Amino acid sequence: MKKNWHEVTADKAHISKEKAKARELKNSPWWRQKLKEGICHYCGGKFPEEELTMDHIVPIARGGKSNKGNVVVSCFNCNQNKGLDTPVDSILDKIFKKGSE
Ligand SMILES: [Zn+2]
Repeated sequence: MKKNWHEVTADKAHISKEKAKARELKNSPWWRQKLKEGICHYCGGKFPEEELTMDHIVPIARGGKSNKGNVVVSCFNCNQNKGLDTPVDSILDKIFKKGSE
């Protein structure tokens, strides 16, 4: 069976467990301190708390965990731009679409 690496998804038990852990982490003093600092992990900009989100470096859906090593502060824009695709995925996507026109 052919399988792309990025199509490997975590099982439901893992996802719900890690989502619950993410909620706990959001209430932790460690996370509150991060929000106060307000520095986006990706662009390095400083933002007010309401413009920041919790981002998983390795998404939960790809087997990532909700721990301090995998969770970073991200501004809304960086979080949106990242999505589920890696840059390589989107570049290949463009080439493929061009070729088929
Ligand atoms: Zn950012």
